[in-house]
Amino acid sequence: TGSLARLGALIRLTERAWALARQRDALFEFATTDPLTRLPNRRHLFDQLERELARARRNDEPMAVALFDIDHFKDVNDVHGHAAGDAVLIELARTASGLVRETDVLARLGGEEFVLGMPQTSLEHARAVCERLRSAISRMRVACGGASIRVTVSVGFAVYRPPTDDVHALLDRADRAMFGAKEDGRNRVLYNAR
Ligand code: GH3
Ligand code: MG
Ligand code: MG
Repeated sequence: TGSLARLGALIRLTERAWALARQRDALFEFATTDPLTRLPNRRHLFDQLERELARARRNDEPMAVALFDIDHFKDVNDVHGHAAGDAVLIELARTASGLVRETDVLARLGGEEFVLGMPQTSLEHARAVCERLRSAISRMRVACGGASIRVTVSVGFAVYRPPTDDVHALLDRADRAMFGAKEDGRNRVLYNAR
């Protein structure tokens, strides 16, 4: 075969490789992204948190994890409809994304629950971030039909305890703090030291 034919075969092979790479990327995106909010999903969150925690341990750096849950979200669906609830989730994800650092891990844990992993972040800094988040969400207005929907979130957060703390222990403490925030009256930030 001539060199032109060989070149043609090479080009076709390269194109095939590119197509496969695009397919692989699309598949990864599909498997790791929540379709509604476009945030990383639960599975990807755990992978990312494991990686960041390992880094914190290795570099002896602080790290914090916050869990936030929309208050009385069932009422939003009941009063305004499921589509309005979805619009709130999308807007909340957008608001939160705009507030966090590039290196933070923001994900939808499921339903109306979100997690923010904050590498290289101390307790007091994490508290400030959570408070900013809570405040920004409470100022959101989501237009739906003629209505302007407002929501609040209860936020619980915990900090990494070296060296044995793992993702599950951290999330568990953040979750308990979040429930504490609910009990204390919602629309607030609580730290779990226990
Ligand atoms: P609390 O303040 O105690 O958190 O009360 P809540 O009403 O937010 O909690 P509850 O767990 O009773 O209700 C959560 C609601 O979130 C119920 C469920 O229908 C709704 N929800 C979960 N995922 C979605 C979603 O993707 N879209 C919409 N529109 N609603 C969702
Ligand atoms: Mg919930
Ligand atoms: Mg809720």
